[in-house]
Amino acid sequence: MVPKKGKVEARSICVCVRKRPLNSKEVTKNDIDVVSIPGNGTLLLHEPKQKVDLTKYLDNQVFHFDYSFDESSTNDLVYRFTAKPLVQTIFDGGVATCFAYGQTGSGKTHTMGGDFSGKSQNNAKGIYAMAAQDVFALLKQRRYSGLDLCPYVTFFEIYNSKVFDLLNKKAKLRVLEDEKQQVQVVGLQEMYVSCAEDVIKMIEMGSACRTSGQTSANANSSRSHAVLQVILRRRNQVHGKFSLVDLAGNERGIDVRSSDRQTLVETAEINRSLLALKECIRSLGMDSHHIPFRMSKLTQVLRDSFIGENSRTCMIAMVSPGMSSCDSTVNTLRYADRVK
Ligand code: ADP
Ligand code: MG
Repeated sequence: MVPKKGKVEARSICVCVRKRPLNSKEVTKNDIDVVSIPGNGTLLLHEPKQKVDLTKYLDNQVFHFDYSFDESSTNDLVYRFTAKPLVQTIFDGGVATCFAYGQTGSGKTHTMGGDFSGKSQNNAKGIYAMAAQDVFALLKQRRYSGLDLCPYVTFFEIYNSKVFDLLNKKAKLRVLEDEKQQVQVVGLQEMYVSCAEDVIKMIEMGSACRTSGQTSANANSSRSHAVLQVILRRRNQVHGKFSLVDLAGNERGIDVRSSDRQTLVETAEINRSLLALKECIRSLGMDSHHIPFRMSKLTQVLRDSFIGENSRTCMIAMVSPGMSSCDSTVNTLRYADRVK
């Protein structure tokens, strides 16, 4: 439950949690909903009527965040309290970043990308599309129309520490850092966009590229981080940058004995990058020498997000409601708790 009206102010770090509904598979398996959202940013892991001992997972079952969204919340509502307040930041010349964090199947892509299969009902739209619409709405306003701001989009994936361009047939790209610590993804396609529909087309194109050509498309895309950036340029210089990141799944309980080598390498890499991300967010606003952005490719590429006075970050931690996901849910909540 969140307030329904009024302008939401952006803070330098905002951490929220979103619970999705139990899905039909979970219902069929008699999975139990163990997550409650009483409101005011609170999330409660509760004992279901059936006797299940949650104390083996954690001592404190109450978590507090800036906002908490229950299973009835729409993408539209989540957007209004998370990414929307950050749009202004890039017009003010700052760097905005929004992360979707959580285990595979918890709702990251649903929240960020929305549903592209159906004919765009409003609530199926994701944060990507809504942010793009707001960027173009602001560009049309008189106070910005004289600034000569030009919008561009990049869309790429980081898998096993390698960067792939989703707007250019998954070309593998190199990341370079110059002597001023400026990080550059060499050859990354930056597409000029003239309206929100252009951005949506890029997202559709990139998302299709993300999952195509793989035996288990969904499983594979969940092992990579996807980064959509909306960049405002003024006389060719970057004026502001909005990065929207659909993070790789943070699953727990990968069985070391029964997993193949590739899975273990992927998992180690994901854990390393998510740990690096946590450390970098925790260093937000500190002297740039202390920000460990070189710990992973993800944080290296997003270096700008962690430095500078005008950097604003939002993390949406997604949780599945079921008892069967409890391990991952606790893991997600602890992580989110550490970055706030
Ligand atoms: P992730 O990207 O975290 O792996 P997805 O976004 O693909 O997870 O979500 C998994 C499934 O659950 C999808 O079928 C998606 O449509 C559904 N889902 C996720 N969040 C919600 C929600 N808040 N309401 C309804 N369905 C949801
Ligand atoms: Mg996904």
